[in-house]
Amino acid sequence: HVHEHPKDVQETTMNDLAPVEDAMLNGDLFAKAFVARKHSALNRVKPEYLALAMRKIDAVSEREVVFAGRRMLMLSSNNYLGLASDPRLSQAGVEAIRYWGNSTSGSRLLNGTNDLHEELERKLSWFKQVETVVAFQSGYMANLGVLSALLSKDDVAIVDKLVHASILDGCALAHAQVRSFRHQDMASLERVLNDVGHKANKLIVVDGIYSMDGDFARLPEIMALARRYGARVMVDDAHATGVAGPHGRGTADHFGIDEPDIITGTLSKAFGCIGGFVGATKEVMDFIKYNSHAFIYSTSISPSVTASLIRAVRIIEDEPQKRVNLWACTHHLLSGLKSLGFDTGVSETPIIPIVLGDEITMFELVARMDADDIFASPVIYPACPRNKPRVRISLCAEHTLSDMDRVLDSVSRHGRDLGIIQ
Ligand code: PMP
Repeated sequence: HVHEHPKDVQETTMNDLAPVEDAMLNGDLFAKAFVARKHSALNRVKPEYLALAMRKIDAVSEREVVFAGRRMLMLSSNNYLGLASDPRLSQAGVEAIRYWGNSTSGSRLLNGTNDLHEELERKLSWFKQVETVVAFQSGYMANLGVLSALLSKDDVAIVDKLVHASILDGCALAHAQVRSFRHQDMASLERVLNDVGHKANKLIVVDGIYSMDGDFARLPEIMALARRYGARVMVDDAHATGVAGPHGRGTADHFGIDEPDIITGTLSKAFGCIGGFVGATKEVMDFIKYNSHAFIYSTSISPSVTASLIRAVRIIEDEPQKRVNLWACTHHLLSGLKSLGFDTGVSETPIIPIVLGDEITMFELVARMDADDIFASPVIYPACPRNKPRVRISLCAEHTLSDMDRVLDSVSRHGRDLGIIQ
């Protein structure tokens, strides 16, 4: 099922395949690594384009990076609020590392809990307006931790087709039954709910903002369907927390509705650090704490990161102008791209794809933006559908409207030259 672009197949990597397949027949476990190379998406791409997918950064500031000696406008970071290099977070981290050292050296349930962890969780629960929040070491671990603890083999996870991989991994770890519905298709969701029936325990799981398309989950409709069919709802608000809604609380805040039954998120995007969290009622969170292997059998977040995160929550609450600017840039760039004739899919958030018809054109556009000192990400299958490769742009609160104009100027020139737009 390898999609080979007629103009651009890299022959050389496939020559070794016959002996490798022999080795596989002989039971060599490692042979699969070599065979995988043949099927890798990266084989389809010219080496000079491949270099664009793995640019090694030399230095970062809020909205720029230094790469290969050039200052580049950063359009590829999850640093939505610019907090990743905020000196106030660094200062809090430095103070904590001086007092607590480098590691908690233990699981939360043994010796790995201190005041900082409890304060972070308290602050996050106020911020998210849920009864109890538990911090995890990453957003990936949060999803894995809650789903593997809560679901078991007779329970049904009903997931949007495009949910994050960590959600599917959590369901797999739980041995839960997984049913999917078409992306954002409420009729499809209702068909699955009907089909599963009222007897089984049901958890609908969606992303708040989808990471490759930049659309919001249709949360009010999903919650109404869930109520009608007696299902619980979990939202992975990784891309929306700190970003969406008048208070920055996330997807529910954006729609002006109550939080769903379970929310998860990351502390590595808007919060500018690393970590994740799960929020629900105290009863449910107590259950998860004492049953989640990801929580119990893994070392807790380091003290310095926890202290930086506490500072981040306060900044996110106190400085709404960061969000206001992020959304002003978002609307400016989205409407500019659309009026130039680019396909931005269903994006309505700071995640903005420029969807293209083929990979060569997409890589060529990324390369030309790179030459204009603009750093955007090339995305191909399997991260998106085969026929919809895209230049993925994500914005930061530190960007300015004139940064957006610079992007529009670059892509309009190259877009015309490459025949993408008129
Ligand atoms: N959920 C979604 C929707 C994500 O996009 C990501 C990160 N790309 C995660 C979860 C995982 O978060 P983390 O990077 O903190 O593990």
